[in-house]
Amino acid sequence: MSGQKPLGLYVHVPFCAGKCPYCDFYSLRGDEAIRARYAAKIMTEMERYAGLPVDTVYFGGGTPNLLGAETLGALLAHIFATFSVAEDAEITLEANPTRVDGAFFAAVRKAGFNRLSMGVQSADPKELAFLGREHSPVQAARAFSDARVGGFDNISLDLMLALPGQTWETLARSVDFCARLGPEHLSAYLLKVEPGTAFAQRGVEPLDSDAAAELYLLLTERLEQLGYRQYEISNYAQPGRAGRHNLHYWRDEEYLGFGSAAHSFYQGRRFHCPRDLDGFLRGAPPVSDGTGGDFAEFALLNLRLTRGLRRADCRERYGAAGEHAFARVLQNAQKCPPALYRADGEQLSLTPEGFLVSNALLVRLLDNV
Ligand code: SF4
Repeated sequence: MSGQKPLGLYVHVPFCAGKCPYCDFYSLRGDEAIRARYAAKIMTEMERYAGLPVDTVYFGGGTPNLLGAETLGALLAHIFATFSVAEDAEITLEANPTRVDGAFFAAVRKAGFNRLSMGVQSADPKELAFLGREHSPVQAARAFSDARVGGFDNISLDLMLALPGQTWETLARSVDFCARLGPEHLSAYLLKVEPGTAFAQRGVEPLDSDAAAELYLLLTERLEQLGYRQYEISNYAQPGRAGRHNLHYWRDEEYLGFGSAAHSFYQGRRFHCPRDLDGFLRGAPPVSDGTGGDFAEFALLNLRLTRGLRRADCRERYGAAGEHAFARVLQNAQKCPPALYRADGEQLSLTPEGFLVSNALLVRLLDNV
């Protein structure tokens, strides 16, 4: 396997205790027997990639902690036995603040997980109730301190923006709540009302886009003051604590995903397992999403990062054609409002104002590239 760059490895755990009204992820309840079969099937699926080098592992969901520490430990042990996992690999577990305790955190830490991502979403009880979350702010704080005692020194918390009626005052309280806990990393996602969700059926509308934009800019400024540097549209970290797994995605590097609804990018091809638990358990083959890794995709993903698109990276990956394409992106940028991006001859990146209109801006930047 020499010459193969280390991959990111993703495990999707599609089980949740209930369904949050805004959630569009693939998740279902599943009983204990189904969860055990699911874990076993994932282990079998992994074997076809045995020996590949891996430097990040991420268990996402769903609610991975519902598998329990023992099954999570068994899955991770199988990963260690099957892949060539780097000694300093980042190994993340997503967890909700309920149905976890000190013993759980100590056990998964001992099994090898070394980073935790917890969905706090808000510290405002009314906002949490609106989001249909099971936990209270007190439970979130307790889960956080249990995780610290359990040995986790790298924790990320998620916040949600643009909730109907949200103001900077309520959001700032949530930010301060998180800052007092002191996580190494924060993610902040804008509420979207996706078709088919309970929110869509109820006709919920997120905050209007101007108010949401203001919250986003204030949040970014506040987090910078608190020592969390923005490194991606929705992600902020203390120095040296950017999430390495997601960086694989944003740098357009390859990764393997296991489980229903998991996506992969491997040997230049993108593919995914359908959102169908029974199909996955029966061994249904993954669905092709075509080839990946062309320049437009590379640029689009890198421009999500505050470090942006770099001439040197374009040259390294695509040779002279990459440098020419980079030059065309720079020319396109010159036709866009200067407040939306920063550029010199070597690098192009979006400002927070640019991130707010990134969909439209990226179309213009990549025109004819
Ligand atoms: S816990 Fe997460 S994955 Fe599960 S329903 Fe809620 S938002 Fe969706």
